[in-house]
Formats: sequence, structure tokens, C-alpha cells
Amino acid sequence: MSSQNIADKASGFLERVNDKLLNVVAADPATANDKERYRALTHVAREQLSRRWVKTQIEDRENQARRIYYLSMEFLIGRALNNALSALGLHEQAEAAFSEPGGPSLADALECEPDAALGNGGLGRLAACFLDSMATLELPSWGYGMRYEYGMFAQSIVNGMQVERPDAWLTEGAPWEFFRPGTVYTVHFGGTEEHYGEWAEWNAAESVEARAYDYVIPGHGTERVSTLRLWKAGAPAQIDLNAFNSGDYGRAAEFKNRFENISWVLYPNDSTAAGRELRLRQEYFFVSASLQDILQNHLEEYGNLNNLADKVAIHLNDTHPAISIAELMRLLCDEHGILWAHAWEQCQRIFSYTNHTLMPEALETWPVGLMQYLLPRHMRIIYRINQEFLSEVEQRFPGDIELIRRVSLIDDTSGDANNRRVRMANLSIVGSHRVNGVSKLHSDLMVQTIFADFARLYPDRFDNKTNGVTPRRWLAQANPGLAALLDQRLGGPGWRLHLDRLSALRSAADDAQFRSDFAAVKRANKLRLAEYIKRELDITLDPDALFDVQIKRIHEYKRQLLNVLHVISHYNAIIHGIADDAPPRCVIFAGKAASSYAMAKSIIHLIHDVANVVNNDARVRDRLKVVFVPNYGVSLAEIIIPAANLSEQISTAGTEASGTGNMKFALNGALTIGTEDGANIEIRDQVGADNIFIFGNSAAQVEALRREGYDPRAIYQNDPALNETLNKIDGGYFAPNDRKRYHDIFNSLVNYGDHYQLLADFASYMETQQRVGALYRSSDEWQRKAILNVAGMGIFSSDRTIREYATETWDLAAALKPE
Ligand SMILES: *Cc1c(COP(=O)(O)O)cnc(C)c1O
Repeated sequence: MSSQNIADKASGFLERVNDKLLNVVAADPATANDKERYRALTHVAREQLSRRWVKTQIEDRENQARRIYYLSMEFLIGRALNNALSALGLHEQAEAAFSEPGGPSLADALECEPDAALGNGGLGRLAACFLDSMATLELPSWGYGMRYEYGMFAQSIVNGMQVERPDAWLTEGAPWEFFRPGTVYTVHFGGTEEHYGEWAEWNAAESVEARAYDYVIPGHGTERVSTLRLWKAGAPAQIDLNAFNSGDYGRAAEFKNRFENISWVLYPNDSTAAGRELRLRQEYFFVSASLQDILQNHLEEYGNLNNLADKVAIHLNDTHPAISIAELMRLLCDEHGILWAHAWEQCQRIFSYTNHTLMPEALETWPVGLMQYLLPRHMRIIYRINQEFLSEVEQRFPGDIELIRRVSLIDDTSGDANNRRVRMANLSIVGSHRVNGVSKLHSDLMVQTIFADFARLYPDRFDNKTNGVTPRRWLAQANPGLAALLDQRLGGPGWRLHLDRLSALRSAADDAQFRSDFAAVKRANKLRLAEYIKRELDITLDPDALFDVQIKRIHEYKRQLLNVLHVISHYNAIIHGIADDAPPRCVIFAGKAASSYAMAKSIIHLIHDVANVVNNDARVRDRLKVVFVPNYGVSLAEIIIPAANLSEQISTAGTEASGTGNMKFALNGALTIGTEDGANIEIRDQVGADNIFIFGNSAAQVEALRREGYDPRAIYQNDPALNETLNKIDGGYFAPNDRKRYHDIFNSLVNYGDHYQLLADFASYMETQQRVGALYRSSDEWQRKAILNVAGMGIFSSDRTIREYATETWDLAAALKPE
């Protein structure tokens, strides 16, 4: 665009913002503050999103489109304004409109938006990346979820310890929302069910209303959009008027809260099966509202449900929405009079399911008693599904009682009739036509371990869909410097929609000028992060130091503690004068611990205590810094990831289903130090084994150690560096006023079996970290490898993942344009 053209557009854009300030926000453009400007900007974008939404719906109706409905308890969206401006083609003019020196800046307005943090971590962020890709690929697509009043808690650190604060993200208004007053469904709970043959009736005890709030998800390079429809729970309109009429406002308010609490707050993921009634209520609430909505829309379009499975695909993001399978059967049979066998056939064609974890303790199950009490009709339906399924198994494998016991939808293994539980993963598999894992390794292990019996029963049902991330948010928006460099080198902005074009960078790795430009971008991103950390934490980082980053949920399997063991050992080596060749290193952590997860919280505390000692030890000077950045979330990730040199992906092999953080880092030119786990393996395949630091035991070796016996205490005793490090932790070196503080951590490693095998991988990790340091010192070679990492990341676009789902799982190949 010519500069005159941009200037014209910029002044036109500014006029629109000022118009919104005056007419919608009620603020004087001359004196408006950043928050008001942010609101005005959202209104400029919102108008266009609104028109695009209407146009998309008209198109889909006219085309009688088959649609994909993506059901997820979590959508970790982050901020929306910057993304909307890019998708609407307004970004350049918005930048120009606020480029007056000393005047208001676009960046300051963007900072006013709170993150929509309706998710815990990877699973919810995946759903958000998928919506971006579904819109961009122009798929007729909807996300369905919960409109939590409070999303992921905000984390602050007090005396080195995590403190959780409520995330009141809606208090300053919800400018992106489109409330749909006409879209209300009743969701029932409790009561009794009666059935006579095919006919059944549910006399529910309670009802709650579900109200729809839409978020328009813009596609990039297209005017089509996707819809994220979130449900809020409320008391039925005919609220207990007797209480009101008698002036008992307290009781009336209590009555109201009892209903609204369903969509009040997001459950934290502590990777243990939750036994909490409210969580089951949430799951059923959002599932029932979504399915009623899907059926109603289908009926409006076709007048009957005969072709439902031809027009509707429903995806279950993990088992949280698995009750969908019983609910669709209930709606089809009880409410719409369809015969069981026909309804079941449709169900299996409609549903597909993604598994996200192999850890048996994280597989969702619900007590039969609770299910019976809250959802008596569904319990009956699950029994019937189970009966028909098990009789099929019995026919194919006569007399294999153990097999029946293992695959049953009801876990009866405790032997106590009061302790029976519904296995939601088994329900999801039986009710779906496709089940996938999220990386090659994970999908292989899935059919070899937790779902081995089902893979024998239904070998064609299982496949792999390696995760991806959207390059719009995770490169174009988060790293504008690198994006501009790529635009130059790759001949334009097309890589945003065709990420495989990054492979053309391979030749650029040998171009000294490009390496130097690439390094300059990285350094600017490091400065940006260093300024943030200086401002927030008053810690000074050297932008030329190696930025060694581990940001993700704090969990034992992700092994932040192994990283801490390296930090302490490196600290010891510096003090002993045996690390003089090592480059200055800043080790940066961020992540939240589930509020009930004591060990994860203790690890956060330890990181702070270690940071305190290391950062203040005069002998270390600036050769090692440790930083914990509070309140990890999407927006923080967007600042930290582009600034990383080294990406820590060090989970015990076989435990991280895929990881998507690993992809974001490599896409932004960080080198990975990682185990042979999840998508790390596929990243190695793409970037080349010479350009990634893989260490430690493989999944098979981890398994073998578990089987054949593992002696962490012997490793502790025989490795002097490890011995010194663990003794410092146990001896109170980092907590001189509370010397027993980390006794439990020490014991978990040395005396209680070291479940995640940190000590088994310690020596390999240390040796690999030394090679990382050596390579960082030969800066040019480092840059070459970093560029080759970016070049290899083409396949990790969520566009690629969604294309695979569309063709292999959702039967939506016809809706895809050729690439
Ligand atoms: C990408 C992302 C995750 C997932 O990170 P992993 O390292 O794969 O666990 C979690 N939280 C946020 C905010 C993210 O952006």
C-alpha cells in the first residue's frame, strides 16, 4: 500500500474510533483514556464481525452445509482485539492511526483487554487454535462451551508462594459478546425415570435455563467466521415468586444463586478424576443445551431428523462432554420418538472423540450413585448401551470374562456394589466412529496400553491427529518482528495461511545477512521481555544471556523439578569454578499449580527460594539468573515465547500426550531441549536430529525401569553432582529459616520411588545442557539451527490438523478448498 493510501485509511480509521467513543462509549475523543479507546476499538471490529457472522449463517443455510460442532469444557482464547484487527485487515491502519509521537498508542489500548481464560492449559488452548483454523479454512463450524463467570484463577506470588485470586474477567463488561435473548433451553436434573420397553419418561426434580452468548471467531484471509457459543446458567424465568411476594428477598436470591452457580467457575485440572457433583452438573448442563440447540437448528432447516448424521458431526474434546452420547440418545428416543437402533446408528456416525492423556488416574469416571441421582434417565441409557455392547463382545470373544470386565462402561472392579463407576472414556469410544490421540507416540501408546482392548475390538476406529497451533496468534501477532522478516524473505504474507512455506527458509540458514537479521529480531524480543520483567519483578536480565524457558502448568510429570536440579547443579559448578566456559544463562519459569496440588505448589516455592539464593549470591554475579514470572496465561506466553532461546520440554517420556508449547517455541526460533515424548519426536523428525537436544530415557525404557525395578537412591549416592544438589535441597540451604521445607520433595525423589524418574534422566540432562551452553557460545551456529527450527515447523499449523480432522474424522473434505 502506498504511504498516502495508508495515511488516508489511518485517518478514516481514527474517525471511526472517535465516532464510537462519542456515540457508544460516551467519552470525549480528546480526553479518552486507554480503556475507553480499547472499548471503542472493539466496537469498530464488532460491527464488521457482526456482518460477517450473518453472512456466514446465510451461506451455510443456503448450502445446506454439513457442520462440525466442537464440544469442549475449555476454550483458552486470550485476548481478541489484536486478532480481530488482523483478521479484518485493519491492523496496519490501526497502527498508523495511533502512531503520533506522544499520542495514545495502539499497544496501550490492546493491553486493557483481559484474557478470556476459560481453560486450564493445553487442552483449552488447542480448542481456541482449532476455532481459528476452522474459521480460516471456512468450515461450517461451531464451538460450544461454558460461559464461566470466573475463568482460570489469577496467580500472585506472596513470599515465594502461589496465591490464587478470582479471575473476574467480566466485571468491566464483555464487549465481544452477542447475547441471544431468543436462544434459551431448559436443562433438567434429578428426579426419577420410568421405562416400559422402548418408551421412557424422566420426571426431573429441577430445571435450569441455559442462555446463549456468542463470540464471533474471525477467519484470516476470508470473510467467513466461526461461532463460539457459550452457555450461562440461570434460574427459570418464573423464579420463586412466592419468596419475592412475601418480601423474602434473601430466599429469592439464594434460589437464584443455586441455579447460576452451575456456570460460576472453571474447575482446575489437577489431573485426578474429580468426584464433585457440581462438575458433573456443569458437564451435563453445557452438553444438553448444545445438543438441544443443534437439534433445533437442524429441525428448522430440514423439518425432521432423518438426515441428522448426514449434516451433523460432533466432536468430544476429551471425555468432559461424553455424557453427550447418552443425551443425544435420550433426545432422539424420548423427545423425538426415534427407535433405539436407528438413534444408536446415527449417534455413532455423529460422534468422534479425542483422548488427551494416558495417565489412568486422569481418566474420568463418575460414581454410579451420583449419576443415578443427578441423571437417572441417562444412567438407564448407559446401562442399555453397555448391555448391547457387552453382548457383542461376548459373541466375538465367548467366555472372556476378564475382557468384559475391562471394557465394560461400568467399573465394578472394587467388588463393592456401592463403589461402581461409569467410565466416560469407554462410553466415548463405544459411542463414536473415530477416536484419536494427539501425537504419533501418544496415539501408538493409546492403542497399546489404556485402549488396547478396544483397539482389538474396533481396530479401524483409532487414529492419530498430531496437534498444531495457529500461526496467526503464535507467530504473526506474538512476534511481529519475525513476521516482518519472514514476509520479506518468503515473498509476502502467505505463510500465515500456508505454513509449509516456511521450509523455504532452509536456504536462508546459510545466508549470513539473514542470520544476523534473525538474531537482531530475537534480541529485540528478549529486550521486550527483559523490560517486562524489570517492570513487574524488578529483576534485571542481560539480553545477551541464554534465555532458557519453561512455561506450562506446574505438574510433576512435566518435571519443572528436573530443571531446578539443573539450575542448582549449575550454580554449584559456578561456585566451584568448573563452569567458566558456560555462557550467562537466565532460567525463566512460569505456570500455575492446581490449588489442591501441594507438591506442585511446593515446587513453585522452591523455584522462588532457589532464585533468591542464586540471584543474590555475589559469586554468581550475572552468570545465572532465575526468574518465576507470575500469572501464566495466553498473553504472558505471547511475550515470553518469542524471547526464548531454549525451550524446555522435559516430561517423562510417555507422559506428555503431545504438548503444543513445544511447537510455539520452535516456531519462534527457540531450540528445544526435550525428551522423546509427545510431539517432541515429530519436531525432531522435521527440524533434524542435529538441530534439537533430545536426552534421557525413551518411553520404552521408562516402562522397562518401572517393570524391572528402579533404584533412585543408588543414583543419588553415586552421582556426586546430583548428591550435592539434593543435599542442598534437603538440608535447608535454600530455606535457612525453615530447613525441613523441602524434605518431602527430597523424599519423593530419593526414598519414595521417584515416580517420574527424574534421577534416571539427570546425568543425560546435565550433559545435554552443557552442550547447549557450548553451542550458544558459537552464536552463528546457534542462529543457523534456530532458523532451521522455524523452517521445519510448517506441519505444526493447526490448519494442517483441522484439515486432517475434516477429511478423516468429520467427513467434511467437500467443504475444504484446495490448498
Ligand atoms: C500453549 C499453552 C499451553 C500448553 O503448553 P504445554 O507446554 O504444551 O503444556 C498452556 N497454557 C497456555 C496459556 C498456552 O498458551
